[in-house]
Amino acid sequence: MNYDVIVVGGGIIGASIAFFLTKNKGAKVLLCEKGKPPGDGATSISGGLLRVHHTNKANQHLSFKSLQIYRQLTETKKMNFGYNPIGFSIIVGPEYVENINKNVHYMNNLKLPSNVYSPQEYRLREKEINTENVGAICYEPLGGYGDPAKSSMSFLNEAINQGLDLMEGTEVQDLIINNDRVVGVKTNFKNIYAKQVIVASNFWSKKLTRKLDLDIPLYTKRLGVVFAQAKNNNKVISHSYIDDTSDTYMRPFPDGRILIGIRSSNCEANKYSLSKKVHFKEAEEALYRAAKRFPRLENGRLLGGRIGFDSYTPDQNPIIGPSEIEGLYLSIGFSGGGYKIAPAVGEYVAEEISKNKQISELEYYRVSRFQDSHSTYFQTDTMYKYM
Ligand SMILES: Cc1cc2nc3c(=O)[nH]c(=O)nc-3n(C[C@H](O)[C@H](O)[C@H](O)COP(=O)(O)OP(=O)(O)OC[C@H]3O[C@@H](n4cnc5c(N)ncnc54)[C@H](O)[C@@H]3O)c2cc1C
Repeated sequence: MNYDVIVVGGGIIGASIAFFLTKNKGAKVLLCEKGKPPGDGATSISGGLLRVHHTNKANQHLSFKSLQIYRQLTETKKMNFGYNPIGFSIIVGPEYVENINKNVHYMNNLKLPSNVYSPQEYRLREKEINTENVGAICYEPLGGYGDPAKSSMSFLNEAINQGLDLMEGTEVQDLIINNDRVVGVKTNFKNIYAKQVIVASNFWSKKLTRKLDLDIPLYTKRLGVVFAQAKNNNKVISHSYIDDTSDTYMRPFPDGRILIGIRSSNCEANKYSLSKKVHFKEAEEALYRAAKRFPRLENGRLLGGRIGFDSYTPDQNPIIGPSEIEGLYLSIGFSGGGYKIAPAVGEYVAEEISKNKQISELEYYRVSRFQDSHSTYFQTDTMYKYM
């Protein structure tokens, strides 16, 4: 059978694209996932933090639209993304107060409620916080977290209802090229043909595109999260946080546990390299950083963790758009932040493919941005230390 579109990869990005491609029931779409959906990639490991706060307007737009989609589909189609809008705060150092105010100004243009607080003002709301080295904190009530694995499955199941063919245990081993264009995929089952192939297979994508001699700047980072519980099982944080002063993120679970991010590291440089094990020292270090900001976590219990890998680009933003080779579209390099923008990415990619047009909201994400210069749209003058 020939398809209009083949999507490679059933993580949150491939699943969202498949959902939107099949929404109007016009296109014949196949998704190949080499594992069992939602796969064993970044999505099933992800921390799931949701926020609109970014240091550029393009990402603010994608994440705001995504929150709206998560909410709308939950209400209208009863899809379950585990979206929990408990709020999100970002903490920055004194040297970034002007930047945070500018970024929030953009956010308020989106009509998104968000407020910047001085450390003194914030302590009136959150008594447990230590505000040493803090310049300002921005709180957005619609942020929070979702469940990335559940979200992928919701998109996939609904896409199947809308006509998607899903092949699990199906690895795309190669792209089939004919007359300089991609015309299909070679899998462990058979060759399958389509007008368009969308590669949404995270860091594995390099294996597929290597032979095509395309210049795609992608590297892999090891990321992880640990789970912790304060002494006496006290609840310590009420909502999700990024503490940019120490490169820490965390969010609560309803049962009082806290998820804390382990420091990410480049796979080539890292001593743990491709190890999927959480090492006690890195878990302790994550808890230590979180406890510096929320002292009630001191001497807390560590309750395991998990490690995953995500593909990164030099400006830490994804590559979305047609490749130089006809018939091949890329949606990769989500650089540790793909979950919060996945629904908007899915909707826009589906629109570009099905209407054969360029969507202005995706123009900053093209791979060509790396060919002309070293700086890109995403290197704004309102950035923070780590974000
Ligand atoms: C520890 C951790 C914490 C994170 N926290 C957050 C967060 O708080 N908020 C946020 O927004 N983002 C977060 N992220 C990032 C986010 O999870 C990722 O950016 C996102 O999940 C990437 O989705 P994906 O679909 O591109 O990749 P993946 O989920 O990796 O999916 C790719 C899929 O492709 C399949 N595949 C690969 N090769 C082939 C092939 N040849 N044929 C068929 N199938 C193939 C794989 O099996 C896999 O299932 C985090 C990531 C990690 C690891």
